[in-house]
Amino acid sequence: MDIFKGQQVIEFSKSFQSELDCKKYLAELKWKDGFTCRKCGHYGSQIRKDFARTCNKCSDTESAGADTLFHKVKFGLVKAFHICFEMSTSTKGLSAMYVAKRYSINRKTAMSFMHKVRMAMKSSENHPMQGEVHVDEFVVGGQEAGHTGRSYGGKKKKIVCAVELTEAGKVKRFYALKIKDFSAKSLRPIFDHHIDKEAQVVTDEWKGYRPIGKDYNIKQIPSELGLNFKAIHTIIHQVKSWLRTIYSWVSKRHIERYLSEYSYRINRSQNKETIFHNLITRMVNADKMYISNMI
Ligand SMILES: [Zn+2]
Repeated sequence: MDIFKGQQVIEFSKSFQSELDCKKYLAELKWKDGFTCRKCGHYGSQIRKDFARTCNKCSDTESAGADTLFHKVKFGLVKAFHICFEMSTSTKGLSAMYVAKRYSINRKTAMSFMHKVRMAMKSSENHPMQGEVHVDEFVVGGQEAGHTGRSYGGKKKKIVCAVELTEAGKVKRFYALKIKDFSAKSLRPIFDHHIDKEAQVVTDEWKGYRPIGKDYNIKQIPSELGLNFKAIHTIIHQVKSWLRTIYSWVSKRHIERYLSEYSYRINRSQNKETIFHNLITRMVNADKMYISNMI
């Protein structure tokens, strides 16, 4: 198939002008390894004009978007593809309000589709971070004044994050997870999901990291007001201001999906040429999802 490459919006609009253009792209991705009927398991099919497939045996017709994250998208595939393109190639991310206005769709509908896109952006957890990895936590939401250290009230959302650094000390990859508190038990999952056991992990001197050190190489050093953790503190600052400016209210239920979106763009900033194609592939490979089922 012809993979869409690049970030040029005019090229993009030319490639995906009609519903049929989008359906063709989805069909080529969906059935790249051949067709198997979802009803009877038969392999033979007829290709319809709209790139759907009709089973030769039981006559079931399956559309290109069926049972993917494009399943029954209310506002059509051209808009859906454009939203995916903007969400993957923009550096800042978009708000549901912006998407609703720009594509003349209902804000709730926009929000629901954007959450599906974020689901597709979630890490596969197949490539744990290696080399030098820094781990730290932060909080978002509510009033920040009057609290110091880790003594935050219950209203704030607590997040633990990790960065893989380049040799020059720059951020190569970033992952973040919502946590209940700052205990070792809550801090542990980011290690198990995203950090290689051989990585050299550096944290500040918080005691919550100590028990995790029996399974991971953790070096604890003083933060020196953040000077020892410049790269991770810069990215924390960026994530916080992004959450604050783009999303006026990020529910606890959804915050991990926003974090997935942020990580996805950071971690693929070296592969922007194929980022749209990567996202569409993920959308096609994921099962259909209704917003009411999203936990
Ligand atoms: Zn069949």
